[in-house]
Amino acid sequence: MKMANAVKYDPKSALADEFMNDAEIVSVLEKAKELAKDEAYVESLIDKAAGYGGLSHREAAVLTYVEEPRLLEKIYAVARDIKSHIYGKRIVLFAPIYVSDYCVNECVYCGYHHSCDMKRKRLTMDELRQEVDVLEKMGHKRLALEAGEDPQNCPIEYILECLDTIYKHSSENGEIRRVNVNIAATTVENYRKLKEAGIGTYILFQETYHKETYLKVHPKGPKHNYEYHTTAHDRAMEAGIDDVGIGVLYGLYDWHYDLTASFMYAEHLEAVHGVGPHTISVPRIKPANGVDLSLYRPITDDEFKRIVAITRLAVPYTGIIISTREDAGFREELISLGVSQTSAGSSTGVGGYADGTQRPQFEVADHRTPLEVTKSLMREGYIPSFCTACYRSGRTGDRFMSLAKAGQICNVCQPNALLTLKEYSVGYGDEEFRKMADAVIAREVENIPNEKIRVKTREYLQRIENGETDFRF
Ligand code: SF4
Ligand code: SF4
Repeated sequence: MKMANAVKYDPKSALADEFMNDAEIVSVLEKAKELAKDEAYVESLIDKAAGYGGLSHREAAVLTYVEEPRLLEKIYAVARDIKSHIYGKRIVLFAPIYVSDYCVNECVYCGYHHSCDMKRKRLTMDELRQEVDVLEKMGHKRLALEAGEDPQNCPIEYILECLDTIYKHSSENGEIRRVNVNIAATTVENYRKLKEAGIGTYILFQETYHKETYLKVHPKGPKHNYEYHTTAHDRAMEAGIDDVGIGVLYGLYDWHYDLTASFMYAEHLEAVHGVGPHTISVPRIKPANGVDLSLYRPITDDEFKRIVAITRLAVPYTGIIISTREDAGFREELISLGVSQTSAGSSTGVGGYADGTQRPQFEVADHRTPLEVTKSLMREGYIPSFCTACYRSGRTGDRFMSLAKAGQICNVCQPNALLTLKEYSVGYGDEEFRKMADAVIAREVENIPNEKIRVKTREYLQRIENGETDFRF
């Protein structure tokens, strides 16, 4: 009798079922459960990750089943060390900007799903300028543009118009210097248009890599097409977008599965395009309008810490992003374990900064302003950064990755963080903020290892004090 051909795991394949092979994940997780009982083996994996070279998805899967408190502490300690080795003390801040909540999809976990009873809105260019104005007055330089999927009400031309409007708008002492884009999976042609419009990172969350669950939680609309969605980053990279961001919505399916799958996805991007994900976002499911949370298995804080730390061990070069879905205290704990970017002062509704009457996509747990967030980061010993230098200096894709992998990106992150902190302090800080920032800057400028850069940083800091802006390395 002829057997049906089983789908084989192949990280280089262009087919989602092959590079995101379910049989591979299931068998890796089965073995991982057993291997996690071997403490010596687990220790050898943690030691390997401590060398900053990352872990394969098979190795990282083992760490997801570690329960021994001593080994968990070791994982956390190594995560902290990797974070500080690759990125230093800087934490990059950004804000989301929702431009349209029209959506033809029925994602069951999202407050914007199509059948949801709500008045929809798309910003006019005047309204968008008002939003950007508010964000610029908060001191933001880096935005993540968000929109639901609706080819009629929110076509690619509208997104391009938004990008053009944002980049052209400046107010008093502010301008947006980098816009990352989080829109639905689209064609190579449309990704080319985004690239030409000067986007930073193209971000698309997979939500879950587990196909059966994916099809269930995306019952209708174009997002139901698992293959098309799962190969979106390939098309973006084919179109010349160097930096792509990925993410799982933790809680939709077993986190061991999705975390391991996200490492397989990173390996796929490296194998095919030579560059892994620029960022990995780690949202977890939260209450939203019309969403029945009892259908899911929400992730505990303890599991969430493991997700962040193991990601840091497995993919050390990637930026890890958390949002204001997490409350202030817990966000700081996650930052110490490996998070390198966070949103601040966020609104998750269309027009939410200037107006605030439109329904948000999800509930925000951290309501602090960017000023409060930056102060608290400084108190914790971090350098809040509004840096956008890499993207503007062409340090993207493999140019960025080679520096990050060699642990050299912090040589530019640190001075750039200090320069943007100074600019923020002069432009937006109150008296307490300026005192704190000056103390951080005076201390950290001495920790810039390269003397030439240290001298140049001091010169730039003085010029910022005198009213000039926008210096970078
Ligand atoms: Fe639409 Fe995105 Fe919400 Fe899905 S997650 S319903 S695509 S806005
Ligand atoms: Fe990010 Fe590059 Fe700035 Fe570092 S120097 S914060 S990697 S943009």
